[in-house]
Amino acid sequence: MRGLGMTKEIRMIFVVHYAELGIKGRNRTLFETRLVSNIREQLKGLGVKGLRRRTGLIRLEADDAAAPEITRRLLNVAGVANILPCARVAPEADAIVAEAVARFKHQKGTFRVTARRPDKRFPMTSQELAGRVGEAILKSNPELTVKMKGADHTCWIEVTDDGAYVAHEKLKGIGGLPLGSSGKLVSLLSGGIDSPVASWMMLRRGAPLHYVHFHNFPYTDRASIDIVKDMIAVLNRTGVKATLSLVNLTPVQEEIAAVCNPQFRVIHYRRFMFRIAELIAHREKAGGLVTGESLGQVASQTVQNMRTVEAVTKLPVFRPLIGMDKDEITDRARAIGTFGISTRPHADCCSLFMPENPSTRAFEEAVDEDEKKLDARKWIEAAMKEEERIDMDAVAW
Ligand code: ATP
Ligand code: MG
Repeated sequence: MRGLGMTKEIRMIFVVHYAELGIKGRNRTLFETRLVSNIREQLKGLGVKGLRRRTGLIRLEADDAAAPEITRRLLNVAGVANILPCARVAPEADAIVAEAVARFKHQKGTFRVTARRPDKRFPMTSQELAGRVGEAILKSNPELTVKMKGADHTCWIEVTDDGAYVAHEKLKGIGGLPLGSSGKLVSLLSGGIDSPVASWMMLRRGAPLHYVHFHNFPYTDRASIDIVKDMIAVLNRTGVKATLSLVNLTPVQEEIAAVCNPQFRVIHYRRFMFRIAELIAHREKAGGLVTGESLGQVASQTVQNMRTVEAVTKLPVFRPLIGMDKDEITDRARAIGTFGISTRPHADCCSLFMPENPSTRAFEEAVDEDEKKLDARKWIEAAMKEEERIDMDAVAW
């Protein structure tokens, strides 16, 4: 943000680009409107003014002091491909040149100047302006050379009727689609490393989420629920607020542990999770489930076991991490900001419930047969009766 605050009048302008090909016609307006409203939500309280969409981009203004925070938040909003933090100066060649020179004083390598001039009253053509700015930058900084294609830096200038905008960097956002542009989903959020990453990947594709967390009260404490809530507050940075269901799985797990084949225990637990999540999805008008499963990561995540678990629901199950390695998932969790929360100490799901030799090849018929030892409907109803539904307004920054 070099070169800012040179004069008191300078206000930061952010130009926000989104870059999903194929967003055309009516969809595009809807897309832009959603993105504007999600950005407005995320930037609440930061004194943002003039947030509006223009063809192909979104623009907003703020005081210099709020710029770093605005930058941080914008880069996490789903649908933001990149942002250009600009200064606004008088629409006069001298002022534009001075601002551009100040911004490129300490840069090295190659650069180019891109000028646009929607306000045709400006007395120079875009090329003339770009040429003059380029020359001035070269003169003031001998470390730089001009390169038209593939330059290290771009000086971005736009002259409009309300001033000229000058930027020297383009910051990459998370991309994707704004929340609300895809169908709603129910995400099974465990508090581990994987499921928040899976959730984030679906949020980035524009799907609003209702989270479901299964806890093991009284074997687990409030700390594990706080972990889930803190995670959601981080995931909420992508757009709009979410909702959460807390469901106690202990009674049915105890029953399974007491009466069913220990080898199938984990499969049974997971089938109950999916059935309950499906009921919640219907109520929340969500069209699918999301899990943090990755093929072969643990015994329950074999093809055979996933198939046996999935057989209990008609909903599509989205597993955005299915082909990822643990270290890739971990890197992603760090970048998103959920890793530290996932690894916070807490009482983990009681080992009492875990079998010694979980089956990696549970066949549907055998599991169905084993499940007949308990009254599934009764346990699902009991779990749903105790469900706690929470609005997750918080966004963590
Ligand atoms: P995670 O790191 O997300 O906990 P995991 O590697 O521990 O995943 P499993 O315990 O087999 O794997 O869980 C696989 C997926 O099932 C999780 O990613 C999550 O989507 C869902 N899941 C597991 N436990 C819970 C839970 N207690 N509440 C909600 N969802 C859960
Ligand atoms: Mg887990």
